[in-house]
Amino acid sequence: MKLLEDRIVKDGIVSAGNVLKVDCFLNHQIDVAFINELGKEFYRLFKDAGVNKILTIEASGIGIACLAAQHFNVPVVFAKKSKSKNIAGDVYVSKVTSFTHGTTHDVIVSKKFLNENDRVLILDDFLARGQALLGLIDLVEAAGAKVVGAGIVIEKSWQEGAALIREKGVRLESLARVESMDVETGVKFVKD
Ligand code: 5GP
Repeated sequence: MKLLEDRIVKDGIVSAGNVLKVDCFLNHQIDVAFINELGKEFYRLFKDAGVNKILTIEASGIGIACLAAQHFNVPVVFAKKSKSKNIAGDVYVSKVTSFTHGTTHDVIVSKKFLNENDRVLILDDFLARGQALLGLIDLVEAAGAKVVGAGIVIEKSWQEGAALIREKGVRLESLARVESMDVETGVKFVKD
């Protein structure tokens, strides 16, 4: 998506540890009108998939999911990162290792908000090693619901996540695909 690529070139900062910072429009300050354009694009891509629920993970996925959900007219459920050691049986649980923090934690969704009739679109900000998305897919499968697709704002295509998700047979749509990035030379995108 050209609009997004241009914004990444303008405002993205390549940081140490393979991290692209887009804090000024996505991960800290949110440019609502701009993220709404991304929401429209997710709708264009998935409008025929019979989506009745959008699932994401706190925190950065929530804004994207809500702006997209307005176009689908469906609710958003966000998986919570749980710190509790004693998780009660009324939640689905999966484990996710954070790419940016390196820590592993349980992520949970209440059984009230996912069930076998759901057709779920999973949305998130970044795809790197695929751990967040795989954890969310696990939660949907635990509920007996169907993953109809996964939408990512920025895929870092040289990392293994995209291949892992496609191997699972999940339709993956990434609005920007970064081929490589470097502190000196900046960001290069995959050419379609
Ligand atoms: P994965 O689980 O695919 O390895 O990483 C995805 C998660 O890590 C995303 O939810 C996102 O929060 C975070 N993440 C991964 N790579 C980046 C990055 O380059 N920049 C930022 N801001 N977050 C990232």
